[in-house]
Amino acid sequence: MSVYLDHNATSPLRAQAREAMARAYDAGGNPSSVHGPGRAARAIVETARASLARHFVTRAEDVVFTSGGTEANNLAIASARAAGAKRLIISAIEHDAVRDAASASGLQVEILPVTAEGVADLIWLEQRLEGWDRDADGVPFVALMAANNETGVIQPIEAAGRLVREAEGLFHVDAVQMAGKLAFDFAGSLAHYAALSAHKAGGPQGVGALLLACDAPLTRQMHGGGQETGRRSGTENVAGIAGFAAALEAVEADEVARIAALRDALQSKLESVEGVRIWGAGADRLPNTLCLSADGWAAEIQVIAMDLAGFAISAGSACSSGKVRKSRVLEAMGASADEAASAIRISLGWTSTQDDVDRFSDAWIREYARVRPRLAAAV
Ligand code: PLP
Repeated sequence: MSVYLDHNATSPLRAQAREAMARAYDAGGNPSSVHGPGRAARAIVETARASLARHFVTRAEDVVFTSGGTEANNLAIASARAAGAKRLIISAIEHDAVRDAASASGLQVEILPVTAEGVADLIWLEQRLEGWDRDADGVPFVALMAANNETGVIQPIEAAGRLVREAEGLFHVDAVQMAGKLAFDFAGSLAHYAALSAHKAGGPQGVGALLLACDAPLTRQMHGGGQETGRRSGTENVAGIAGFAAALEAVEADEVARIAALRDALQSKLESVEGVRIWGAGADRLPNTLCLSADGWAAEIQVIAMDLAGFAISAGSACSSGKVRKSRVLEAMGASADEAASAIRISLGWTSTQDDVDRFSDAWIREYARVRPRLAAAV
């Protein structure tokens, strides 16, 4: 069994989530049915909805379950379009679930730049919103993720939300990587929409949610039986929803500090190696994420070498098709093409131990020392 250090890709299912899912499967029933088994399934869904609402500081009726973070992001953007947005501002570091949904909307897309530390440039945003032409560009729409999946850099959500609210715009937050790793207060974020995904928090894959502020327009994309109070048709993924809530409830109070200490120890070992550059180290970051470039050592080769050595990590920008392409996030932070192409991401989580990070750092440092002379000679 390899040591799993790729929790930002997906975090292994927590035991509490698996148990909640097993109970939900045993309950059977369609939550829309009025008979006993149907009511039992409905109770599972509504209990989970209330639990998510408590966790993210919002109202249960403002939680719309979806098939995951991608669908939630798409739903927010489609709803903004239907509400009169004609031009979308998205940050330079958004996940493809926002970036592609924005370009598929057919609307103009503008990029909100980030600083060298990977933090959204709010001075740019403020000036851009001041000059907004509402007649030509409709309702301003801004998407800024809560924390980046590659670097872990946390974004100034509340300040951005204030700017968007002052401009009477719509504000969307992809909180997929934040949820379960650090507290995410939806009400405090001033966002109209927030996308969530269960599997990044130790819940099952294929389930997520869109949180809605009470003044957020929503236009359904899935038409059918009118589930989710008409906002997203399709029989609810009852077991997935139960597992989602159970995973969030299972996050232990000391988990963040424990994981942060492991990440910091790992970082201090690796950053002392010649040729290593850590990304976003000067900014607030998720406690579990470490993104680094290793001079001359291609990311995909590192991933393969570490896999052979028994460690699962990812290239800075592993994408869903398994292909590795240059990291747009790091390029937006000013990385050279070589730095972006040699970036890996190590992301810890609830399964991670001191032994995992010690063994990984030893193996990685040993391998880099072994290949480095050849890399240097090849230049
Ligand atoms: N948003 C971010 C920031 C992500 O990291 C991911 C998954 O990698 C997604 C959205 C997509 O979520 P899902 O896999 O649930 O569709």
